[in-house]
Amino acid sequence: MAANWKMYKNAQETSAFFEQFTPLMSDGIHCEVVIFPASISIPGAVQAAEESAIRIGGQNIFWAREGAYTGEISGEMLRAAGATWVLVGHSERREYFHETDSGVLKKTQAAIEAHLTPIVCMGERLEDHKNGRAEEVLIRQFAGGIAGLTEEQFADIAIAYEPVWAIGTGQTATPEIAAKAHRCIRSETEKRFGREAAEQVRILYGGSVKPDNIVGLMHEQEIDGALVGGASLDPQTFIKIVNAA
Ligand code: PEP
Repeated sequence: MAANWKMYKNAQETSAFFEQFTPLMSDGIHCEVVIFPASISIPGAVQAAEESAIRIGGQNIFWAREGAYTGEISGEMLRAAGATWVLVGHSERREYFHETDSGVLKKTQAAIEAHLTPIVCMGERLEDHKNGRAEEVLIRQFAGGIAGLTEEQFADIAIAYEPVWAIGTGQTATPEIAAKAHRCIRSETEKRFGREAAEQVRILYGGSVKPDNIVGLMHEQEIDGALVGGASLDPQTFIKIVNAA
C-alpha cells in the first residue's frame, strides 16, 4: 500500500503524521507500506519510520547519475537519503512536466541502477476512457516505456494503473474496470517478458482510493495493492486502507 503525498506536508507536518501513524501499524500488518513524501522531507521520514516496517520513497527521479541538471535529484541521492522506492511517470509528471514514455523508461532504468524499486505509473485520460480507448493507451505506454527493460530489470519493478480521470476526482474506477485494465497490463507483460513475470509483477490501482472502496478493489485478484493520494494524508484514514489489505 503506497501513499503519494504529492506537494503536501512540510517537514513538521511529516513528523506529526509519523507520530500518529507509526503506532497504528501493528505487527499483524502483512502488506508492504511505502510513503512518498516531498523529497525535502525524505531524511526526516526515514528517521521517523526507522523502527517500523514503513518504507520511504521519492516522488520523482532524474535519469542521470549526476551533472548540470538544476533542480533534479538522482537515484543515488535518493538512496543516500534512505529512500528505497521511487514513483516514475505519475500522470501529474506526464501532464505538467511533459514526461514521455521514453523518459519514463530512462528514469525506471536509473531507479533500478540505484537499487530503488520503481512504481511505474500508467493510465488513460478521461477522453480515452469515454471513447473506449483505455487499453490502446495502456498498450502504447507499455510499449514505449517499460517494454524497453531487460527481463532482469523488469523483475525489479512494480506498476500502478492510475486512470487519470480517477485521480483526485473522487471518481474511482469500479473494481471491474480496474481489473480489466490490470489484465491488459499483465497480458502485455506476458507477451514481452513471459508468463512468470506476468504472474509475479505487482500491479497497484490508484485513483480516489478511500476506506469505503478499498475492500471492493482488493477483492479483485488482479489488484495487488493501492497507490493512494489524498486519502493517505490523514493517518486515521490511511491506516484503514492499509488494514483492508
Ligand atoms: C495519486 O496521486 O497517485 C492518486 C491516486 O491520488 P488520489 O488518491 O488523490 O486520487
